Amino acid sequence: MTVTEQQSVKTACWSCGSVLTTGAPFCGVCGKVQAPVAGVTYFDAFGLTRKLGLETANLERTFYKLSRKLHPDVYAQASEHEQQWSLEQTSLLNDAYRTLKNPVMRTEYLLRLEGVEIEQDRSAENGAKKESRVPPDLLEEVFELNMQLEEMRMNRKMGEDDPQLRGDLEKAKAQFEGQMAESDSQLQALWTKWDAALDEGDEASKTETKDKMVALLDRRRYVRNLVRDVNEALDN
Ligand SMILES: [Zn+2]
Repeated sequence: MTVTEQQSVKTACWSCGSVLTTGAPFCGVCGKVQAPVAGVTYFDAFGLTRKLGLETANLERTFYKLSRKLHPDVYAQASEHEQQWSLEQTSLLNDAYRTLKNPVMRTEYLLRLEGVEIEQDRSAENGAKKESRVPPDLLEEVFELNMQLEEMRMNRKMGEDDPQLRGDLEKAKAQFEGQMAESDSQLQALWTKWDAALDEGDEASKTETKDKMVALLDRRRYVRNLVRDVNEALDN
């Protein structure tokens, strides 16, 4: 976010006129609840910069602290405006917490903020589930898996069971699940790079890391769908 963008969402407290911290639900001076400001990000809602390697324990603590302060009971005697704002702030906070505590959702959210169009958005636009491109290093495995899945579905239609085939599919599934776990640790390494690039204002490194995260998440999504397909075929 550039300095100008940051300033454009800066507003003053409706009650005491103090300048508010971007996205803060309460005035830092008088403590009054504020109307949510358009363009506030989930990171702003938690008073965070756009770093990915965040402590989920801290996130949880802040979430509960803010939720308690925004609770409708606290505003039972307050003005209608404050009651309404506390509800809106709660809803924003809940969305922010749900998104930021999940490693994949957090990364996808950041990428969207950074103007990246991720695959999920592209397929959602078409209204239908679009088959994504097979990652090149998986071509062979996916080809074989699809044959096995087809066979499994045929067997089930005929009421037959092939323990060998079932075993092969279980094995393939375990392997894909292993790949997903591997993606998750690779993603954490990219978070570290992203956070460092952000600190240093290194635009080239930011772009490179963003591209890598997009590719990693595309692949992860693909593998996750494979696991889902195997589960369906195995009727797990
Ligand atoms: Zn104030």
